[in-house]
Amino acid sequence: MYKVSEEESGKCLIATELIHAGTKLFSFDPSYYQEEKTYQTIQVGLDRHYLAESFLVLLNHSCDPNLIVNTEKGLVYTEKDIYPGEELNYFYPTTEWDMARHFVCHCNSAKCIKHVKGAWWLPLNVLSSYHLNKHIVDLIIKNMNNPDLLQGS
Ligand SMILES: [Zn+2]
Repeated sequence: MYKVSEEESGKCLIATELIHAGTKLFSFDPSYYQEEKTYQTIQVGLDRHYLAESFLVLLNHSCDPNLIVNTEKGLVYTEKDIYPGEELNYFYPTTEWDMARHFVCHCNSAKCIKHVKGAWWLPLNVLSSYHLNKHIVDLIIKNMNNPDLLQGS
């Protein structure tokens, strides 16, 4: 269904055949979390970070993603049809609040956010077009109720 590919920018996963929207690709157990976040963890709760292994760690970021990572269910599935040769990716701020390692995105999508730093750094109108995980929604609400925590204040 997909293969590991070695690109200039690093390893990634590439579809080897048409994968239909809604296909379950991987599962993981989010109850195996750690409190420390690194560039290899996926945030699965308020202070919970799952150390991504095997295929999960090879999922790169895109601002126009084709995968959804559901951290409550520990499921990764396709959001849209993925054609052979396309890279599998997801929008990191749907799981990450404030990332351990920030970077500049070169996905070339019309909706590219450029600076990928986590959901905390993005305006709501941008975030609302993605499938946010529950802990990200909870953190947005928590921040709204605590104006002192808002950016720039
Ligand atoms: Zn981008």
